[in-house]
Amino acid sequence: MRLGSASRLEPRTGRSGEGLVFDGVLARRAAGLSTSFPTPHFPSELGEGVVAFDSGFASPEVLPDLTTFAMAALTTHRDETLQYSANQGQPELRRWIADYMNEDGCDLTPDHLMIVNGAKDGLDLVCRLLLDPGDAVVVTAPTYFTCIPIFRSFEAQLLEVAQDDDGIRVDELEALLDSRAQDAKRPHKFVYVVADYHNPAGVSISAERRQALVALAAKRGFFIVEDNPYRRVRFEGPSIPTLKALDREGVVIHTGTFSKLIAPGLRIGWVAAEPELIARLLQLKSDGGTSALLQRIVYEFCRSPAFPDHVERVRRLYVTHRDRMVAAIRREMPDVGVNVPHGGYYLWLTLPASVDGEALARAAAAASVNLIPGSKFYAGTGGFPRNRDDGRSHVRLSYSFATVDDIDEGVSRLARIYQAMRAA
Ligand code: PMP
Repeated sequence: MRLGSASRLEPRTGRSGEGLVFDGVLARRAAGLSTSFPTPHFPSELGEGVVAFDSGFASPEVLPDLTTFAMAALTTHRDETLQYSANQGQPELRRWIADYMNEDGCDLTPDHLMIVNGAKDGLDLVCRLLLDPGDAVVVTAPTYFTCIPIFRSFEAQLLEVAQDDDGIRVDELEALLDSRAQDAKRPHKFVYVVADYHNPAGVSISAERRQALVALAAKRGFFIVEDNPYRRVRFEGPSIPTLKALDREGVVIHTGTFSKLIAPGLRIGWVAAEPELIARLLQLKSDGGTSALLQRIVYEFCRSPAFPDHVERVRRLYVTHRDRMVAAIRREMPDVGVNVPHGGYYLWLTLPASVDGEALARAAAAASVNLIPGSKFYAGTGGFPRNRDDGRSHVRLSYSFATVDDIDEGVSRLARIYQAMRAA
């Protein structure tokens, strides 16, 4: 494919020996993207016998029956649900989410909230609000891998800061700010964190680090984007206040979602931020409003007595899956390091130096066990100090979707491959 070389008078698209040519007509963010389609990995596309440890799919066992709520949405509420909806989202649902987040120590009103098409859509909108090309964004090493292409599509410069068992290293973040100031570079626009049950590392930011991070953001003038999909998928351990709950200066922009608590297929999430930011976000949301029908179904379910029971079932199922996978790994791959997250969907494995995570993931896929190599969770751009880890000694396994029997089978297959690689 030729890019950007033609004079403006020459035809710039057409077929050539190389296939379809887009000469200088695509945006920079699209021109360099691959034209191959990703390998199928959605549940409906999985081949027979494939064990899916790769993605954050919900377990079919806890997808709720929403029929009565959908019926009400399509009958009693038809005039609302089959119309365009307000860009900010339904007031009742925003009220419900405000109350829900206030249970965690926030002080929000419906004006602080905007409904979006899932947390990823919220992140995309937050980028529209905050980023100009070339702006710096801090991510943890490792970070949620889907945020990397989102931030890159805004031509952001990604800087990595390490995290440990207490979450992001706020001291290193401060050192990064100092070093940029010395080089006369502007501070990063925001730092992106997954505060609870990190994807992929499973860790939660400690209470002290949360306080320190929010104080640093207020002092040095950057935003914190707190992405928190797993907060209520909590198995044990304390419930530490969210970053949004600690935020007195309006520096935290929080993205939430019903994907992990109800169903990812609904694509309903939210952004919580100061009303002055929400007012601007509304004008940047160009999808005609998130589906009124789906918002109503979600709201009717959330306010029904079925909801708390459902959340309890979700937690019970995933803690069983976590325990089963941790036990299988300890039994079959005893020299692999495994974190035990107190919530969420993922195990982050640390491999001995002789085993490469990318090679392991490739060999596992050939044996019909899908997992994600750790390197995918690193922006790979360094930070301060320059990043020491490229993730190749890690792999991420999700325990959410596979059944407990598949967890045993998948780990057995993985262990056979792993032992062979270890012996080689
Ligand atoms: N953020 C993180 C950290 C996630 O793990 C996920 C789901 N894998 C999302 C966002 C996406 O959420 P949603 O389905 O609401 O877009």
